[in-house]
Amino acid sequence: QISGRKTIIANWKMHGNLARNQHLVEKYLDGLQSLHANVVVCVPYPYLAQIQSFLQGTHLAWGAQNVAKFEEGAYTGEVSAEMLRDFGAQYVIIGHSERSTAYCESDENIAEKFMMAKRHGLTPVLCVGETLLEREAGVMERVVGRQLETIVRLFGGEAFADTIVSYEPIWAIGTGLAATAEQAVAMHQFIRDTIAGASKSAAASLKILYGGSVNPQNAIQLLHQKEIDGALVGRCSLEAGQFIKICQSVP
Ligand code: PEP
Repeated sequence: QISGRKTIIANWKMHGNLARNQHLVEKYLDGLQSLHANVVVCVPYPYLAQIQSFLQGTHLAWGAQNVAKFEEGAYTGEVSAEMLRDFGAQYVIIGHSERSTAYCESDENIAEKFMMAKRHGLTPVLCVGETLLEREAGVMERVVGRQLETIVRLFGGEAFADTIVSYEPIWAIGTGLAATAEQAVAMHQFIRDTIAGASKSAAASLKILYGGSVNPQNAIQLLHQKEIDGALVGRCSLEAGQFIKICQSVP
């Protein structure tokens, strides 16, 4: 069950090594003592055991950045939801644009991964968002609507109960150009309304985060919006001081 507090997720992407991770997590733990936020650290698969050993028994949770859509079997290179649970993961990022573009993940694939995570008690963090061309063409709601509706069509609106959707405009990821609070709020309202159209109760329990060049400066305004339930943070999660400041911006 997701608590009512805002959630800040660190996405380390393909960064880190044993020594750097230890240093970063020790600083996180030092700086994030008393907080109003849920903090989650999503690490590359090989470091799940390490992060578990550091964060077990603390108020920080951890997760992965992808999961297989299959239960188990002959799927070389894949990692199952049950394996993530074995290492104490509670969250998994699904459908990040860096994956869907580089590995041609379809909306159907992403939907199956989303349900697989749920079935195994992981909280899926579904990434949705439009490209710059799509925003300039004014079709961003159609694009995000299609990404959400694939899950609704295959599994029903109830699938979104107690899950997380992260609005990540592709033009804002890693570019230093974050969406304005107005742009993010408008899309967050659209996302909640879309899910409410399929299931009111699921929409009420859904958290909607913003991701895309979040930094300590823009976090204050973004995280003060009632429509924004938290943030997914890439680059600034690799700098403990910046990540701590972002977490401290949660009102
Ligand atoms: C991300 O990893 O989803 C992300 C938003 O990255 P950045 O904060 O670097 O834009």
